[in-house]
Amino acid sequence: MLPDKPENVKCPACGKRQKRTGMVSGNSVGARHYTDGKVIAPMLPEIPRFVKCPKCGVFYKIDELVTRGWARKSAPEVAFLSAGECAEAIDDGLYNAEKHGSKEWREDIILLRLEMWRAFNDRIRDGYEPHGDEMRSDMPCSGVERALYESNCRKLISLLEEHDGVHACLIRAELFRNLGQFDDSARELKKIRMYSEHEEYENCIAVMGNACDEGYTLTVQL
Ligand SMILES: [Zn+2]
Repeated sequence: MLPDKPENVKCPACGKRQKRTGMVSGNSVGARHYTDGKVIAPMLPEIPRFVKCPKCGVFYKIDELVTRGWARKSAPEVAFLSAGECAEAIDDGLYNAEKHGSKEWREDIILLRLEMWRAFNDRIRDGYEPHGDEMRSDMPCSGVERALYESNCRKLISLLEEHDGVHACLIRAELFRNLGQFDDSARELKKIRMYSEHEEYENCIAVMGNACDEGYTLTVQL
C-alpha cells in the first residue's frame, strides 16, 4: 500500500482547507465483502466523496473544482459523513450540487442514501454477534434512528426501481431483507438469474437467500 500525495480539498463556501489522502497503489488482500455491497479492504481504503466543512458546516461534494493542487501535510484529513450527517446533507442539499431535479442531483441523492444505509450497517460489522432471539432483532440504534434507517431503505428501493442489472437487484434484495420483507427480497434474488453474469454472484445470492429463509435481517459478511 503506497499513499499518494494528499490532495487539497477547499470548501466551496468558505475556503477552509482540508486534505484527502488516496493511494498510488493498493490491493485487495484481506478484503471483507458484505451483503450490502460494502468492501473493507485494509490495503486499499475508501476515500470520502461527500464531506461536511468543519468551519462553516456546509455539505459539499469533493470534485475537481474543490481539489486543486496538493495539500499541506498538516491540514486536517477529510472525514466520512455519519448516517445522521448524510440525512442532513440530503435535507440541506450539497453546496456545490446541481439543481434539484437534475440527473446529477438524483445520482448524488442515491449515493448519499447508499452511504447513509452503509453507515448504519457499519454498527454491526465489527464485533456485533447477535445470539438467540437477537438473531431476529435490529442493529443497536434508537427508535428515531430506526425510523430514519427504515425510511431511507424504502426511499432507496423506490429510487432504484427504474434501475436494471445485477447490482440494482442485489441492493434491492438486501434492502427488502433489512426491512424484513423476505418475499420481496427472494423475488429480487430470483430476478438476478435473468442476467447472464449471475454466476459470479452465486455465493452472495445463496448467503442472502439463506438469511431470508432464516428470517435474518442484518447485513452479513460474505
Ligand atoms: Zn466551509
